[in-house]
Amino acid sequence: MEAKSILSKLIPYKQGKQTKEIQEEFGLNRIVKLASNENPYGYSDQVKKTLLQALPDFNIYPDGYTAELRTVLAQKLEVEESRLVFGSGTEEIIQMLCRTYLVPGSNVVTPAPTFGQYKHYSLIEGAEVKEIEVTADGYHDLDKMLDAIDEKTRIVWLCSPNNPIGTVIPKESFEAFINRCPKHVLVAFDEAYFEYVDPKANIDVLSFLENHNNLIVMRTFSKAYGLAGLRIGYGIANRTIIEKVNVVRGPFNTTSIAQQAALVALTDQTFIKDTYEKNKAVKATFEKFLKNIGWKYFHSETNFILVETPISGLDVFQYLLERGFIVRPGELLGMPNTIRVSLGTEEDMKELQHVLLELHNEAIEK
Ligand SMILES: *Cc1c(COP(=O)(O)O)cnc(C)c1O
Repeated sequence: MEAKSILSKLIPYKQGKQTKEIQEEFGLNRIVKLASNENPYGYSDQVKKTLLQALPDFNIYPDGYTAELRTVLAQKLEVEESRLVFGSGTEEIIQMLCRTYLVPGSNVVTPAPTFGQYKHYSLIEGAEVKEIEVTADGYHDLDKMLDAIDEKTRIVWLCSPNNPIGTVIPKESFEAFINRCPKHVLVAFDEAYFEYVDPKANIDVLSFLENHNNLIVMRTFSKAYGLAGLRIGYGIANRTIIEKVNVVRGPFNTTSIAQQAALVALTDQTFIKDTYEKNKAVKATFEKFLKNIGWKYFHSETNFILVETPISGLDVFQYLLERGFIVRPGELLGMPNTIRVSLGTEEDMKELQHVLLELHNEAIEK
């Protein structure tokens, strides 16, 4: 048997060690996971209550059209229902876009570093991936990205806030970009961390949908809504894009329980506001700590911070791991000598800061 030849150059997603394994290996009582930008405050109590009261009929296929959630979400976003598509996480929307638009010989343009799945799924469809390094302060280099676009470009991936850096694309830059971007190129705008962005930095990307038929915005219930384990996200675009993606989409790609949970989660905006406020406070405290010890970090509009480390990010990762904290070494994300720290609860961050300070003092002594 012969698989697609590109697959021999790619590897399956490697998830981090499970917390139980690490606990046993280092004899730790407790592990704090600050590696996947999950919501440390869980998810809305109302979701739990609703699901405990009545579970969906698991013997019945889910509503493939996601009608109930679609109606409520469309109202909230003030877009027509036909402009929405749902996926098993944003992840699946990304995959579906690649299947819909990419052919061997085509290409895509992405920032670097960014979320790895744009490249992964683009390569699987046989497209070439043009990676444009972010600026020194961690912003998309939109001019260079425009220059990289040619007649074979099918998708340009934008990630705002950009994972693993945390920066957002400023409004004026985006406006200039999309006005100059050729119409044959799909602009895929990933806003997985939308709910964490300071209102002052929000560029209201949905307002661009009216005049730009080549734009799709992607969001998710996995991050601020805290429903990562249920796998549900969505895309907002004009109808011609949605119609094409719907051909590629599996008929029952989101589960009934995910649809129901997302529906309830949407109506509990108090939880989102609370998450936003807590995250903002923790971020400010952590930034102050980093300033005090003189470690640089990138501007973050989200629930993680990319921190520059005085030694290899892999070594900092290992040091923290042995003391019960899981972060992501920048070496694995295309940013050597950094770590990406998901912002946890106030108490967990206090302990992390304590351990980082020890590491800092040891590093200075050496
Ligand atoms: C976490 C993340 C996603 C994946 O979200 P799911 O909805 O859980 O698939 C997508 N894009 C970015 C930038 C992310 O960080």
